[in-house]
Amino acid sequence: MITKFIKRILRRDPMVKHSQANNTGAPKRIPKKSHRIDPHLLSKNAVKVTHTLQQAGYEAFIVGGAVRDLALGISPKDFDVATNATPDQVQRLFRKARLIGRRFQIVHVTFFGKGHPEIIEVSTFRALLDNAGDHVAESGRILRDNVWGSQGEDAARRDFTINAMYYDPSSETVLDYHGGMADMQKKTLRMIGDPAKRYREDPVRMLRAVRFAAKTGFELDSATRAPIAKLGKLLNDVPSARLFDEILKLLMSGYSWRAIQGLKEAGLHHGLLPLLDHILDEGEDSKGANDFVKLALANTDERIQSGKSVSAGFLFATLLWPDLLKNWKANSSKGMANIPALHDAMDDTIATQSSGMTIQRRFESDMREIWSMQPRFERRVGRYPYRLIESPRFRAGYDFMLLRCATGELNPAIGQWWTDFIAADPAGQDELMASAKNESGNSPTPAKRRRRRKPKSALPPEGAAS
Ligand code: ATP
Ligand code: MG
Repeated sequence: MITKFIKRILRRDPMVKHSQANNTGAPKRIPKKSHRIDPHLLSKNAVKVTHTLQQAGYEAFIVGGAVRDLALGISPKDFDVATNATPDQVQRLFRKARLIGRRFQIVHVTFFGKGHPEIIEVSTFRALLDNAGDHVAESGRILRDNVWGSQGEDAARRDFTINAMYYDPSSETVLDYHGGMADMQKKTLRMIGDPAKRYREDPVRMLRAVRFAAKTGFELDSATRAPIAKLGKLLNDVPSARLFDEILKLLMSGYSWRAIQGLKEAGLHHGLLPLLDHILDEGEDSKGANDFVKLALANTDERIQSGKSVSAGFLFATLLWPDLLKNWKANSSKGMANIPALHDAMDDTIATQSSGMTIQRRFESDMREIWSMQPRFERRVGRYPYRLIESPRFRAGYDFMLLRCATGELNPAIGQWWTDFIAADPAGQDELMASAKNESGNSPTPAKRRRRRKPKSALPPEGAAS
């Protein structure tokens, strides 16, 4: 009776609970000669974090995607650390440490070096759901998650076997609880536990399955794949912001086209994400749209694989462009003037998308800017080009316009003209203006106060990045 009462109290405040259960078995210890992880690929800061924790008497490991990537010989893009120290205990050990999250409390330890600051995410071993009490919705979805557990339990709550390995930089040993290394050799993506139950707990795992399959080139194990067709609709229950984050990760995985094909094969695209519907629609009408989106995604993949940045606003602007074009044309054929027709179409396109997954506001404003710049590339008269090139998001708009040229939607000569215009000195720019006048037969409005400065300031160094 009393134990029951204490259990209930502890459940109410998940922060104080340390689960006692450890029913998850011993891990396989894999020595360096078998896993062949190259220590040079490790983040020095992640190693510092594990050392500091270990010196303070705690267990600490690099975990998750970083170990998977290291074992694949890929340089991980970020490093997570798992420990038996609680978030408060972690926070006390580091100067720049911040507690974040509610549903899933973790500590961000920040290091300032030469380039960007590096954040190492430190999480405390979590207990298994069955021991975690009543933090689950009726559908089986996990709501809160701050019940501390053993390392074995922490491993069992992770998604795929290849994401559940722990690496200790001090001994250079990998602890593998679920046969992740063997699956790695078999190039198999396998969900830990009962896949259907795990998808019900967190439907986003279905999107993660598709993303990791695309990224690693691994096959989904048949039992891992099977329930997705039936459970895909559970993604409807996932909060829009979380869905957005996961779709963004998928699109920025460096294998976006493959991942989108994977979504289609898994039946996860229709209805759930209107944005993807038309991309994957293979009707004759959408051929041009597909070409544009395919090219944009190939361009994004190439940038990411070569370590360049990609702006999410740019990416979503490309994905929604075919839909926007359709709406724009429809408005124009109703007799609306060109620019109001475009702005009205932008509202429609964004509203349709928002009915499935809302795109965050800051990205939405980038998208609107890139789109509304497009007709301006065709106005090569008067002071317009000189003004356009000064706009803060010019580079993104220009890159976008080049994609339109590459698929033949816009005359490639216009793209070339702008490329020349950007590179030209003031005299060269004047010549180009004159050539545009002859080409189009327009009579430009006289440029009253033309800027003579070479507008290099309008050009950040790299493509669509921001
Ligand atoms: P990426 O390279 O994209 O960062 P990742 O595997 O590191 O891949 P994260 O989202 O950073 O993915 O998550 C870190 C780790 O946390 C995962 O490797 C996995 O062990 C665990 N994890 C993340 N999301 C889930 C989830 N929805 N369910 C179960 N475990 C998860
Ligand atoms: Mg990660």
